[in-house]
Amino acid sequence: MNTLLLRPEDAGAIEQAGALLAAGQVVGIPTETVYGLGANALNDAAVRQIFAAKGRPADNPLIVHIADFDQIYGLVAEVPEAARRLADAYWPGPMTIILPKADCIPDAVSAGLATVGIRLPTHPVARAVIRAAGVPIAAPSANTSGRPSTTTAAHVMEDMAGKIAAVVDGGPCQVGVESTVISLAGDKPRLLRPGGISLEQLEAVLGPVEVDRAVREQIGDDVRVSAPGMKYRHYAPHAPVTAVCGDPAKGADYIAAHLTGKSGVICFDEFAGRFPGHVVRTIGRADDQAAQAHAIFDALRAFDHTDVAAIFAQCPDDTGIGLAVANRLKKAAGFHIIEV
Ligand code: AMP
Ligand code: MG
Repeated sequence: MNTLLLRPEDAGAIEQAGALLAAGQVVGIPTETVYGLGANALNDAAVRQIFAAKGRPADNPLIVHIADFDQIYGLVAEVPEAARRLADAYWPGPMTIILPKADCIPDAVSAGLATVGIRLPTHPVARAVIRAAGVPIAAPSANTSGRPSTTTAAHVMEDMAGKIAAVVDGGPCQVGVESTVISLAGDKPRLLRPGGISLEQLEAVLGPVEVDRAVREQIGDDVRVSAPGMKYRHYAPHAPVTAVCGDPAKGADYIAAHLTGKSGVICFDEFAGRFPGHVVRTIGRADDQAAQAHAIFDALRAFDHTDVAAIFAQCPDDTGIGLAVANRLKKAAGFHIIEV
């Protein structure tokens, strides 16, 4: 399959992406979080092609993207008051709400769960493509399963060229990490995945939110989780990663003392000069977590174009969007973590 690269500024490009989706094809689309691998969420066969293109395990559910709030009503069993308040505060935006699903959601989307994740993205190209398709769009991140997520159209082409119908090039993603996944399907609100909307922001609207164990710890194969996808190895470049957490200056000292011949470093800007002779990628200053979120997946992917054999990565603390960046880095490291 020849994968088309569509530019939203070209006449007819959005309509073409919409028509491909309406016809049951898979299309890479930009969102404010990461690029998504979209298909018609109501078409079981189309959705199964997403799993095939990514090599994604069938028990890892997909998020359904809508262009306008009212589309949610056909997709979930009911919209509770708490969901409406969250939506008022943070939609359109980088937040996915899990609710009991409506019957029209194919099993492939919900991975057999009784729930479905819904998101209203803010990216104008994402919303224009969803509107042009005329259907809700199921979309996981547009990377090969297990690899770092994609935040540019070039990243998507790296993983998906030849496997999907088209990629819409909306430029680099602004947020850079995936959406926050908040479940309102149980007795209490529960954070399943930290992301672009922080835990502090959720709690400002909902009051106390439980944080799922899978956010900070590795979950064993024998443990039941709310979303099976939380168990898999994720976000990983080819070289093994060590996440270095704690005081940033001490972390830089630790890395400088432990670097061997072919190690690479992901570090905060102020420490870039500490590792001469090594491949270094900076992700923003230690106190700029938004910059770190924006840069992290590109940094992880960049090492796959080098001969680096091991990567040390400085990890932010758990405040604000730092919780999401730390979660992605710890998972990329397979929870191989050094606390300094
Ligand atoms: P991705 O954005 O590719 O990383 O994948 C979507 C993620 O959303 C999954 O890995 C789950 O963590 C989460 N998700 C989607 N649907 C559900 C659901 N019904 N229940 C719980 N989590 C979900
Ligand atoms: Mg993903």
